[in-house]
Amino acid sequence: MFENLTTRLSRVLDSIRGQGRLTEDQVNAAARELRMALLEADVALPVVKEFIDKVKVRALGAEILQSLTPGQQFLKVVQQELTETLGGNAEPLNLRQQPPAIILMAGLQGSGKTTSTGKLALWLKEREKKNVVVVSADVYRPAAIEQLRIVAGNVGVEWFPSEVGQQPVAIAQAALAHAKKQYADVLIVDTAGRTTVDEAMMKEIAELHAALNPVETLFVVDSMTGQDAAKTAKAFGDALPLTGVILTKVDGDSRGGAALSVRQVTGRPIKFLGVGEKSDRLEIFHPDRIANRIIGQGDVLGLIEETARKVDHEKAQKLAEKLKKNKGFDLADFREQMLQMQNMGSMQSILEKLPGGAQMQEQIKSVDAEKQIRRTVAIINSMTPQERRFPDLIKASRKRRIAAGAGVEVQQVNQLLRQYETTKDMMKKFAGGGMAKMMRSLAG
Ligand code: GDP
Repeated sequence: MFENLTTRLSRVLDSIRGQGRLTEDQVNAAARELRMALLEADVALPVVKEFIDKVKVRALGAEILQSLTPGQQFLKVVQQELTETLGGNAEPLNLRQQPPAIILMAGLQGSGKTTSTGKLALWLKEREKKNVVVVSADVYRPAAIEQLRIVAGNVGVEWFPSEVGQQPVAIAQAALAHAKKQYADVLIVDTAGRTTVDEAMMKEIAELHAALNPVETLFVVDSMTGQDAAKTAKAFGDALPLTGVILTKVDGDSRGGAALSVRQVTGRPIKFLGVGEKSDRLEIFHPDRIANRIIGQGDVLGLIEETARKVDHEKAQKLAEKLKKNKGFDLADFREQMLQMQNMGSMQSILEKLPGGAQMQEQIKSVDAEKQIRRTVAIINSMTPQERRFPDLIKASRKRRIAAGAGVEVQQVNQLLRQYETTKDMMKKFAGGGMAKMMRSLAG
């Protein structure tokens, strides 16, 4: 995410050296480079101009701490201005509406509307403990209705049926009546998207808006389209009282122009980022944390939150108990740990949030780590329960059978057994706590 911009910025920041105050020449030179970097990232021109002007004024102003080097001073100014440009404070989702709180999803076709509807439903269900109903008012594409049905099934929320040929407003009203009857907390209405902004589409969604009076009207937009994302959002915002934006496909966006333009161009806050195809790849948008990521400082808070959330506390606790009772750490437990690591999300998303992680990513091929985990799990799967419980049983002929079963070489089975032994030793050292303890200390 935003790797190119981060790399460019770090070069600008590195170029400012020396001691004492920032000089005017230094500021001007850095501002020129910064301007280039932002334009290259496809940030909208008025946003770039305003950003640069503010950075200059602030960098030359008196509010800088003398204890910082010029490089640090400039970095601080850039961080503060990026945070402002991105919207200042995080704007949480507003659910303060007589239940069900209605969320209307708007956006162009292919922007990630249906995927985001599923992500939002999952987020509301798991994090906010809300009872969610979803419905599709896309009466042009039966495939879109079916897609939402599948997504809802996957994330375990109720899908209200609709059909091609019905009126969107009638669908929405029926879904609302149903949601009320079910005492649902939230109703999310997915809508039809066209390939471009057109009048008929605007009219239809405006009618839906008038009929539903949603507390949130979220515009879903593809971050890869750069500053065009902000332009489309503006066109929708002029026709519809948008309350926020979901920026999708940020995982594939190395530039960051959309993220940096949306707030300024539309005046509407970004509320969520879509950072992958899977339903759990949704992040709350925190301007200050994103600013830190852009300047290469990572997002350690985000990482800790994510880790604490993804670890299955119940399983970790069980393992801790088992170790405490001195029952021994066997290969089934080892497999469990591997699966938990996989749960934490891709190595890529972890790396991204580490300070300097954007650069590290290029060196470490995350796919390899994930492949390794999958292979380990496959090898353990092809063992018998007895072998998992008593790994000492695994001698040459058993190794050959296990290797064949998992489609690997005997050498790799040996490697896994060595890894397991090392981990077991480590577990003993973390007496009584193991992974659970480690995770708890991380989660603070
Ligand atoms: P809709 O037409 O607006 O409903 O768009 P869809 O929800 O069908 O999404 C279009 C495509 O974008 C699908 O292939 C999704 O898997 C993909 N997609 C959606 N959100 C994200 C995201 O945050 N990251 C990535 N990498 N892909 C996404």
